[in-house]
Amino acid sequence: MKKYHQFWKLGRAELGTEFFDINKDGELIVREGNYQYNVNDLCTRFGTSLELVFPHIIEYRLQEIFTSFKAALRKYKYRGKFYFHYPMKANQNKEYVLPLISEGAHIETSSVNELWLVKRMWEQEQFSTKIKVLCNGPKTNRYLSLIEELKLKNLDIVPIIENHNELEYLRGYRGDVGIRWDPDVKVESHWDKQTDQFGFSTEQLLSIGKVRNLKLIHYHAGSMITKLDDLIAPVRKLMPVYIKMKKVNPQLNVVNLGGGFAVPYEKNKKMYVVDDVVKRIVKTIKSATDKAKIPNPDIIVEWGRWVVAPAQITVYSIIANKEITRNGHSKVPGRQWYFIDGSFMNDLLDTWSIHQKWHVVPVNNMSAKKFNRVWLAGSSCDSDDKYTNGGTHVLLPRLEDLSNGEPQRVAIFDTGAYQDALASHHCLLSSPAKLIIQNGVITVARKRETPEEVGKLFGW
Ligand SMILES: *Cc1c(COP(=O)(O)O)cnc(C)c1O
Repeated sequence: MKKYHQFWKLGRAELGTEFFDINKDGELIVREGNYQYNVNDLCTRFGTSLELVFPHIIEYRLQEIFTSFKAALRKYKYRGKFYFHYPMKANQNKEYVLPLISEGAHIETSSVNELWLVKRMWEQEQFSTKIKVLCNGPKTNRYLSLIEELKLKNLDIVPIIENHNELEYLRGYRGDVGIRWDPDVKVESHWDKQTDQFGFSTEQLLSIGKVRNLKLIHYHAGSMITKLDDLIAPVRKLMPVYIKMKKVNPQLNVVNLGGGFAVPYEKNKKMYVVDDVVKRIVKTIKSATDKAKIPNPDIIVEWGRWVVAPAQITVYSIIANKEITRNGHSKVPGRQWYFIDGSFMNDLLDTWSIHQKWHVVPVNNMSAKKFNRVWLAGSSCDSDDKYTNGGTHVLLPRLEDLSNGEPQRVAIFDTGAYQDALASHHCLLSSPAKLIIQNGVITVARKRETPEEVGKLFGW
């Protein structure tokens, strides 16, 4: 099985697959301490399409960040603290947010509705009174009022000023505020735009100068930043701005570096690792502030995607196959469409919107010796509902060789970030059922939607 384990890139920490393995029957398994879960058996029991969430993976990744920062702060004799704020928008599901909070994460919200959920948790005392909340995003009046309401109730909540309207409005705010700076650096990422709509330019920020109760400067340079140097460049560029702002705002003492840590969705490309990123961040901030003879600021990161993506896999069964034809013919042997019992456009929307690449692995027949080169098709009636691995192909077992009566099943890895809130109902297909799996206990978090439930969403 060792060979297949390598072939499907399982058990590799740097790829985020360290908890995944293959059993002697060629089936995908997931490990959690002494527990072991057989994904194929779960499909038989609960049906497909199916999302499997493993909270222990979320907790493990958060701990990795804490461990790295702890070591780096000590190594460089850094005299500020480190905080992780979980950006809720990466995945707002309860089974993601609660484990993170209980393991020591703080929260960052992007909207009034996310903050409303924080309020509810706070009122139900589902987290410690020490929790810190940062509020990002353009703020509606509802959002601003809720921030003020929670501040009055003594939640440690810091609004991050996005624009002049918020700056004006928050002059009377009775607590610390942050301000968002637009780093305007070129990074390699799908989201590297010439310009984005968030925050103040360096020039604007310096001309604003003094801000009442300014505690924190924040930036977010983009998501899925693929190069280590691109993660560090905005930190470097921030430091002179921070130092200048600190002169007129002596109470300023936090830098919040936002998100952007990339996930190795493609398992054949090398990616930077947490330790290296963290060391460079700490070193950069330490040396700039020491040189300027000001205290080392507290450091915040909001790496959402990296923490949650590998905690979920999405599993489908193959319901049909046919040869891929072009111009009516040009048959390529071994090239096939495999149709899944779900939808890329609905369940994994980034496949369609940003041509997301995924690691696709068979759930059963993993030790098959003969493969087809496959394009996957969703079961909506939309020609865009497909996954071609960037126009190449995915290798999957040949269906004609299988005879045990079980459908071929496939797992899409790293689906824990961003896909759920973007999910949709094109062709009124049902969303996948969802299981949460932890400590040997399997909980159904979302049943498969019935036709009645889907119809209801559309006023029927
Ligand atoms: C989206 C976002 C994040 C999280 O980004 P990731 O790419 O998931 O790490 C963090 N901070 C802000 C302000 C964001 O908008």
